Amino acid sequence: KIKTRFAPSPTGDLHVGGARTALYSWLFSRHLGGEFILRIEDTDLERSTQKAIDAIMDGMNWLGIDWDEGPYFQTKRFDRYNAVIDEMLTAGTAYKCYCSKERLEALREEQMARGEKARYDGHCLHEQCNHADNEPHVVRFLNPQEGSVIFDDKIRGPIEISNQELDDLIIRRTDGAPTYNFCVVVDDWDMEITHVIRGEDHINNTPRQINILKALGAPIPEYAHVSMILGDDGQKLSKRNGAASVMQYRDAGYLPEALLNYLVRLGWSHGDQEIFSVDDMKQLFTLDAVSKSASAFNTEKLQWLNHHYINHLPPEYVAVHLSWHIHEQGFNTQNGPQLVEIVQLLGERCKTLKEMAESCRYFYEEFDEFDADAAKKHLRPVAKEALDLARAKLSAISDWSVENVHHAIESTAAELDVGMGKVGMPLRVAVTGCGQSPGVDATVHAVGKSRSLARIDRALA
Ligand code: GLU
Repeated sequence: KIKTRFAPSPTGDLHVGGARTALYSWLFSRHLGGEFILRIEDTDLERSTQKAIDAIMDGMNWLGIDWDEGPYFQTKRFDRYNAVIDEMLTAGTAYKCYCSKERLEALREEQMARGEKARYDGHCLHEQCNHADNEPHVVRFLNPQEGSVIFDDKIRGPIEISNQELDDLIIRRTDGAPTYNFCVVVDDWDMEITHVIRGEDHINNTPRQINILKALGAPIPEYAHVSMILGDDGQKLSKRNGAASVMQYRDAGYLPEALLNYLVRLGWSHGDQEIFSVDDMKQLFTLDAVSKSASAFNTEKLQWLNHHYINHLPPEYVAVHLSWHIHEQGFNTQNGPQLVEIVQLLGERCKTLKEMAESCRYFYEEFDEFDADAAKKHLRPVAKEALDLARAKLSAISDWSVENVHHAIESTAAELDVGMGKVGMPLRVAVTGCGQSPGVDATVHAVGKSRSLARIDRALA
């Protein structure tokens, strides 16, 4: 049975890098009908916060990445880690180290002076030290001296690291706390993880973790290390060049479908297909199509996808997300067109739902003033005749339909012997307060008859 995990350290929000790792892990497992678990790696007590735990889960929930087990918390499993360490001490696969900071520091300096890599020399393993059990000590893993660790990274291919490169890793600190690499190993073992899919920043941990798993007689999962994400300027991803949390993308008006589609394509491909529904992703995702090289974040492409989903998902669904943004903007849509209508009317013009929420206010509320430039250009003093006549014709409509509104504008222009724009533009500014809107007939229709007439009066006043 396939089982993968997402194992974030809760030290901040869920950012695009983490979200993509979670997505790949999730899709890999879903593709094969396996399980996916969430494990919170909160052993760093100083940096882990409840706020970050909530933010990670909120982000995953918003994206729709669901987990079958968990969240597990490493801080609740210390007894288990310590029990395994005690077994290893008994079995001789780990040993206590009493070396002082001063000794380790001196050793380090000596090694560096000789141009060697600093590594523990196994002093406490080899020397017969007489120490009382309760003297301060760490526990080290007895790393094999000979041979090498080989694993076949499912994204990067075979990787081999000589054991001589690897230190006798500290697995329990002086204060009794098991260390990060060790907790991961015990968790992956206990939780029966078959595939570890994580960021390439963990690639150096993998041989160490494999050695510990071997010493424990535990099965070795497959490993896949996902490449970095770079900013849109080719530099390391940071706040400046595109890095944002998943929830910041929600706030900026992106749909989860768009962000998921964007993230899956950021380092994975399937022919030249660009649009993937979540079902497509689950059906098509494999690790061998994940890129080894870093991917650059591209905000424009994300916007393009968002625009696509705004216009291709059922408008009823998009309207639910839009209503969240309208709530954020703080206005009420009780009195005016259905939000579905707004989605249909404004979808083509908007890259984000935030933009849509900001630009649909005039359908529901009176605007404070006419946009100065638009009013100067289209309203005064030239438009009185056009607005007067258009008002009369609009007011005479008994069946308020887009076609009839269109006809009223058209016949106004015909009677005055001017182009449609000479009627449409003043009318648009009068009814919306600004110079840009969807088609003026559909806009006036959606604003409604009495509201439109009152606004024309206001413009004429
Ligand atoms: N907790 C690690 C991180 O957030 C992930 C470790 C792992 O996936 O093995 O970077």
